Amino acid sequence: MENLSAIQLRDKIAAGRISSVEATEAIFKKIEQWEPVIGAYISTCRDSALKKAAEVDKRITAGRNVGELAGVPVAVKDVMCTTFGATTCASKILENFHAPYNATVVEKLLSADAVIVGKTNMDEFAMGSSTENSGFKQTVNPWDHSRVPGGSSGGSAAAVVGGLCFAALGSDTGGSIRQPAGFCGVVGLKPTYGRVSRFGLVAYGSSLDQIGPITRTVADSALLMNVIAGHDPADSTSVDQANAPVCNYLEKLDEPIENLKIAIVPEFNQGADEQVRKALADAVDIYKGLGAEVIEINMPHLDYAIAAYYVIATAEASSNLARYDGVHYGHRTDNATDYIEVYSKSRAEAFGKEVKIRIMLGTYALSSGYYDAYYLKALKVRNLIRGDFTDAFEKCDCIMMPVSPTPAFKIGEKIDDPLKMYLSDIYTIAANLAGIPGISIPCGFDDNVLPIGLQILSPAFTEEKLLRIAQMYEKQTDWHTKQPAVTN
Ligand code: GLN
Repeated sequence: MENLSAIQLRDKIAAGRISSVEATEAIFKKIEQWEPVIGAYISTCRDSALKKAAEVDKRITAGRNVGELAGVPVAVKDVMCTTFGATTCASKILENFHAPYNATVVEKLLSADAVIVGKTNMDEFAMGSSTENSGFKQTVNPWDHSRVPGGSSGGSAAAVVGGLCFAALGSDTGGSIRQPAGFCGVVGLKPTYGRVSRFGLVAYGSSLDQIGPITRTVADSALLMNVIAGHDPADSTSVDQANAPVCNYLEKLDEPIENLKIAIVPEFNQGADEQVRKALADAVDIYKGLGAEVIEINMPHLDYAIAAYYVIATAEASSNLARYDGVHYGHRTDNATDYIEVYSKSRAEAFGKEVKIRIMLGTYALSSGYYDAYYLKALKVRNLIRGDFTDAFEKCDCIMMPVSPTPAFKIGEKIDDPLKMYLSDIYTIAANLAGIPGISIPCGFDDNVLPIGLQILSPAFTEEKLLRIAQMYEKQTDWHTKQPAVTN
């Protein structure tokens, strides 16, 4: 059962070949055994999960209708609000925060009859690329326990590949779904900005954040999109049905794209390791073999993406995180003598180092005298990057590039050098600045048996096509079926 995709499991449950309670018990057994090693979860919710599973089983036995994810054990990143358990964002400041409502995506999972088993570990407030910034624990890469799982949705990716759930949700502000998916050898989709509701997603960079699925197969990604995509009146940035209708992402998944035109950006790809570039070239060759045309393009402003992103994301974060003041939410200091000290000490005691760095950077970039030089300039660069994509998509259906310059790096390797860490986001950040969708799918292994990801980017609101392009590749390869030996 452990090797099944979410769809395969769902079909078995629906056919009465296995019960959801059995599947959920098996997941908790696996969690009991492996969680102390992998560290994928901040919290689990066995009671509510088993209750939901039993309820789904009962409905199936009675021949009643069930949802698209009926009985499937899934996990959500601990940055999405749930009324069960705490919602911590892996921060000490929210250690005991119990949300009064469910995020829209959580509601949607539950109405699709998914069984939510727990909340996954992450970098604090989603700030990071390795899950080393979690205020609670280190998640390790199931392929090699001395390496990071990527981040910030590292817990979700490790849980999916480690068999500690069948699918998970992550959030992606600058690569946090695609990069951990790439490092762990699973499928990660960042939808178009506005495609999935952010209501109940704790904000990091509000103009960049997007929720998406982390799954074992492309078809599972399409299934989760069927469940979570769509307009939400509670999120004014979610796009309405009239302007961008939601499709059935599974329906035509197996129909290949005729006359597919792929662009690659050779100069930009030079920044990646040789083995990563080789895996990319091999993947592109597979598409050529399927009849795709491949063109080379230039995207002159991509080199500035990191600089622009780390101004915009930190500026937005400094504003979003102002609400954690020891009064409204979370941790409050015991050592204050006046209210100013309540603010400063509560924040000083409970935010981690990286979060503090970013609040300071963002506050600086927004302060009078520097606003034009940094924030406004970054917004202009963002527009130029958007323009690069608009120009590119006039010539092609999609762009292929690496997910990351290297496979998973060692725990501790970059943590003392923020710039080095930020530079590892070079290939993922531009999609967030432009608001377009991007998917990471497994496309091979390096000499150390570490997964390598292929990233595919497409125009806004073309997820249906993007998933079909990804599916064309997955059907030709078996990388997605490989599992790390360490958790078997
Ligand atoms: N690594 C990037 C950052 O630290 C992206 C994180 C994310 O996508 N949440 O900001």
